[in-house]
Formats: sequence, C-alpha cells, structure tokens
Amino acid sequence: MGCLPVTIPVKNLKWIPNSKKSYLARIGINTLKDLLLHFPRRYEDRTQFFSAQPLESDSPVCLFGIVVKTSFQRYGHNPPCFEAEIEPQHANVFSHRWTCRWFNSRYLAKIISVNDKIVIYGKIRIRRQRIYLDHPEFEIIEELQDSIHFGRITPIYPCGDGLNSRLLREWIFVALQEFDPKTIPDILPPKEIVIPREEALQNIHFPPNFETLEKARKQFVLEEFFKLQCLLARRRQRALSSHSTPKIVSRKLLNKFLSQLPFSLTTSQQEVLEELLAEIAEPRPMRRLLQGDVGSGKTVIAAACAIATVEAGWQVALMAPTQILANQHFKNFHRWLSPLGISVSLVTSDQRTLPGELPLFSSPFGGDVIIGTHALLYESTPLPKLGLVIIDEQHKFGVEQRARLLNRGICPDLLIMTATPIPRTLTQTIHGDLDVSFIRERPALRGTIKTLVRPSSHLPQITSFLRNELSQGRQAYIVYPLIEESEKIQAAAATERYEFWKQALAPYTVELLHGRMPADAKEKTMQLFHQGEISVLVSTTVVEVGLDVPNATVMVIENAERFGLAQLHQLRGRVGRGQLPSTCFLIQSENTKIATERLSTLEKTSDGFEIAEADWRFRGPGDLLGTAQSGLPELRIGDLIRDSHLMEHARKTALELFSQDPSLANYPILLQTLVQFEESISQKFADT
Ligand code: ADP
Ligand code: MG
Repeated sequence: MGCLPVTIPVKNLKWIPNSKKSYLARIGINTLKDLLLHFPRRYEDRTQFFSAQPLESDSPVCLFGIVVKTSFQRYGHNPPCFEAEIEPQHANVFSHRWTCRWFNSRYLAKIISVNDKIVIYGKIRIRRQRIYLDHPEFEIIEELQDSIHFGRITPIYPCGDGLNSRLLREWIFVALQEFDPKTIPDILPPKEIVIPREEALQNIHFPPNFETLEKARKQFVLEEFFKLQCLLARRRQRALSSHSTPKIVSRKLLNKFLSQLPFSLTTSQQEVLEELLAEIAEPRPMRRLLQGDVGSGKTVIAAACAIATVEAGWQVALMAPTQILANQHFKNFHRWLSPLGISVSLVTSDQRTLPGELPLFSSPFGGDVIIGTHALLYESTPLPKLGLVIIDEQHKFGVEQRARLLNRGICPDLLIMTATPIPRTLTQTIHGDLDVSFIRERPALRGTIKTLVRPSSHLPQITSFLRNELSQGRQAYIVYPLIEESEKIQAAAATERYEFWKQALAPYTVELLHGRMPADAKEKTMQLFHQGEISVLVSTTVVEVGLDVPNATVMVIENAERFGLAQLHQLRGRVGRGQLPSTCFLIQSENTKIATERLSTLEKTSDGFEIAEADWRFRGPGDLLGTAQSGLPELRIGDLIRDSHLMEHARKTALELFSQDPSLANYPILLQTLVQFEESISQKFADT
C-alpha cells in the first residue's frame, strides 16, 4: 500500500515519462486520482484464447500467436495494405495461419515484425478458405511470465494519440501500488459500500476473475449514478425550497372553457389536470414533466393550466421549439382563451405580436399568455407577474435555457410537455429533478393508424394508394429524412423528391415545406394545407411536432431506416388525428435484416413507451444523453440500459439521503464532491 495522496498532479508521478504527460492531459488525466479512475473500456481474457473452429461472425475473438510473415499487398487501386500472418500458439487443432490486414497503415511495418508474439482482437472473415481479421486491435507481448500484460484478464483502455493500452496498463499498475487509499474517500453512504475502495479499484483494473470484476464495476456504476442523482436531487431541492406565492385557483373561467370544448376530457386528462391544479395552488413551485403520446391531448391541459394561472392574476409564457409550432399554439390558445377575456400574444424572432392582436399585458385580469420560440429567452424584460412557464417538446431545449426563462419571473411554476416518450431510466436521469405525469389514454373516436413497412420497389403501388385517397378529398404528408445534420442538404434532397412526387401525383397540388424557407412562406404553406388547398406536403422533419390536420390520412416516410423509431412514431402521429382511418408507409431503401426488424416494431405497436424502449435497445442511449441538451455530464462507466436497476437504486438512495439530511451536514465529502461537480458542469454548459 502506498502513501501518495491521489490529488498529486500527474507531472509529479515519476513512473510516467515526461514526454507522455501532455498526452494524458489531453484525455483529461491530470491527477493520480484521474489515472486511477480511468476505467478500462473492455477486458481480454489472456488466459484463454480462441480455440474453436474459426467461423465468420460479428462477435470479435481474441487470439494469441507468433508473426510468421509480413508483407504489403495491393488490392485494386487502393494504397498498399499491410498484412501479418499469424500462427496461433495455444491449444488449437486448426493449423491454419490467420491473416491480419490493415489498410492504409504503412507505419505498422515498423511495429509488427516476424517472430513477434502478438495478441489479436477482431472479427473473423473467411475468404477463399483463408481466415482474415481486418483492422484488428493488437498488442505485442514481450514477457509471457509474470507479466501484467499476459496470462491474466487484461484491461484495455480508452486512449488518445501518443498513448496505448499497454502504457496505461503499466502506469495504472504502479499507481495502484503507490496511492494512499485514505485520500480517495467513498461518497456512497456506508450501507451501499459492498467492497472497500482500494479493493474495488484493484479489481476494476486487474480482476482475478470476471465475478470479482462485476462486483467492482457495480460499485463504481452505483457511485457514478448516485453522484448524478444527488446532483438532480440538489437541483430539485433548490427549486422547491424557493417560495412562490400560492395561486388561488378559482374555477370559473376554467369551467367555462371546459364546457365550451367540443369534447370532454378523457379520464387520464382529468386526473392529470387535477394533479396540476393542486400543485399550482401550492406555495412551492411546480416542477413537472407531462409525458403523453402524440395526440393524447396535452395542449388542452396546458391551456387549462394557463387559464387557471391567469385567473389567479398571473402571466403565462409558453415556449415552443419551432416557429410553426409557436404559431399553431398561438392560434389554438387565441381561439380558446380570447372568448374568456384573456389576451394571447405571440413573440417570435420575426414579429412581436401578430398584427391586429391585442397588445401585451392588457387583459382585464392583469394576466396574459405569451407564446413564442427561443425568442422568449432573449428578451430581457423581467416579468414579475410570470406565474407559469410551459415548455413544449422539452428535449429540444436545454436545462440552461429552461433556467433562463424561469429566471424572467420570480420562481414561476414549470410545466414541460413532451410527446417523445422515453424509457423510465432515462426519465429518471434527464428529468430526475422533475415530477412526472403521464397521459396514457388517447381520446376515443380517434382514427386508427395502420403502419406498413415496404421496400422502395413498392413505390408504384403506394402512389396509386395515395391517388385513391386524394381522390376522396384526403390529404397526405410525404417526409424525406434527415440525411445530414445540415438542414441545407436536407432541404435540397426534399426539393428533388418534391419534383418527383409533383409529377407522380398530378393533378393534385403538391407543395414543399422545409426549414430553410422564409418564415412567411412556411406559414402560408401550412395555412393552405390546413385549409385543404394543398393536398400533399413534401417536407423534411419540420412536420415532426405538433401539426394538426385531421383530414390528412396518409403519411409516406422515405428512407425510413434513417430515422429513429421514436421519431418515426412522432411523425406518424401527424395522421390519424381525425376520425378517419389512416395509413403510414415506411419506405425502406436499405434492405438489411436489422432495419426491417427495427421498423417492424412500428407495425406491431402504437405504444410510445414500448417504442421508446425498443429504439433504445437498437440504438443505445448515445444521442439522448451526454449532449448539451440534458445538461448532464457524460457517463464514464455506467450503461443506462444494462444498469437501469442500479439507476433506480441510486435514485432511491439519493432521495432518502436528501430527505434525512437536506443540507448534507453529515456528508461533507459528498457535499464537496457535488459542489465541484456542479461547477465543472456549469462551466461546460455555460455557452450552450
Ligand atoms: P398533443 O399535444 O398531446 O399531441 P393535442 O392536445 O394537440 O395533443 O390534441 C390532439 C387533438 O385532439 C386536438 O385536435 C385536440 O383538440 C383533440 N383532443 C384533445 N383532447 C381530446 C379529448 N378528450 N377528446 C377528443 N379530442 C381531444
Ligand atoms: Mg403537442
């Protein structure tokens, strides 16, 4: 056991060559502690190598052998390819040599030579009865006995330029002997600690067996999740401990509104509304996420909350992610609220109020509803009477943006509406500081949506199906996917498809809608589509959220495999909004098995949460977490899918701890860790 405090900077660690220290800094390793907590990305069992019959597979294998030949080969006009033939060294009845190929890697000739002992990790390919591994990971082995690199379960590390796993392994091996365990205290509450810290550290890097490894890993994952949940608990506590003035919710206007709706609320809507109204009336501010599938009727609920808030003498701000949506909300709210004497105004980057509308702040109740896009964030006038902030489609806004809008008032209530169902673990992570309500039921009388996955060779049949629907006066959306992040390229592709569909569907009116069109042109197209003057809208994903045209009964989504399932589900929610049966074609241009399997999920279910879970399994959480949007740090070791039960546990533990000791008076180390953690996060997200 060593005596070095873990806070010691890397530059003072004698066993690391000075020339390498700047490379460590580049991957965020600045102290001994950073080095110890640099977790392996995978492990190789270098006690047992692959010895079965080599078969092509997508699971990589680990092989140990001797290099018997190296050469450069040419394949077509490509630059020469470096090849190494390997003779397997372990118990192996198959005497084949294995050929490892690295394209475009001339420099490897200086690294790999004949007679080297080498560990190879890669996927088997069989071509003309020869066994190939293309671009395998490899490591030259110098010592077979008493080695930290061989004859054990060996850690493989994430590394950057100028580093490799072998170097990191050596340095971490020494670090584990030199550090003083007292200087790296646990932050988990004692009852959660299964393995002492030093043992866990030892075993996460150099596990004697996989069971021990799993225990150590679990400990670190739990710690990581616990830290995250404490962060969320603190955010939440901060929000809830600030006092907002309780609002007196009289239901006069509200009841009038509800009785004038052409439908009655579903049970699910009623329950949620009661929950929200109760919270609005309380002295602590509301922090609530309203999840409900597309078309489940969240907007009506938001309007009801707005009415109650205005009636109590406060203002309401509603922020939408796009201008089209802001306009649509504005129209709905205006239609619903003006008859009650409530003024609604629109603030977007283009116009402050729509011509002919009531000016701001002029309702007889001294309250108002202001609807807008991001523009709402950049207005700096304080709104002292702001009592409720509603954010539609939360995942498009970041936590910082949310905070900015809230700060315009004095601790207003917050209601976030999202139609993107996300798996439970993710809700607890991204929205861990919020309470969550669900609208599970869809209003009855809603038309059914039939979903069909089709190859692009079926375009002629789909076209005649479309023509048939159009001939009955129906309308349709044709959506072209996001090929690149750039809206410019997307728009160009949609434009091309637009020409195709215009001809294919003549004489019906086909129009184009994409995000790069000027706002008034977009608005006009939308309006004409609403009025039924346009039959078919060819668009990019700008129609994803919120458009409500009950007469639209067909949706065709091209290159559907390029979308996530959740997004496809959102898109198809644009049809089936009236009582007519609707159809959604998912056209698949790439016929891979996995794509078909993935898309067929949508043929089978219309439950947004089920789809979200499936999407997650297929794609991983990558694009949902760790982005600037969530305002959360990236996970270093935990995996939200694999470790979801641990997230659940961490959340419970954190909430318990905060309810017993809100100021963390008994947990000074945890408190200090969290404060540092918060600082690093706010630095990271300061510019977003
Ligand atoms: P969301 O915002 O959840 O996607 P909306 O609030 O836009 O859904 O509702 C979709 C459509 O259903 C709207 O036209 C709305 O007026 C209507 N609607 C909402 N609630 C009900 C209900 N209880 N019964 C019938 N129609 C409803
Ligand atoms: Mg909506």
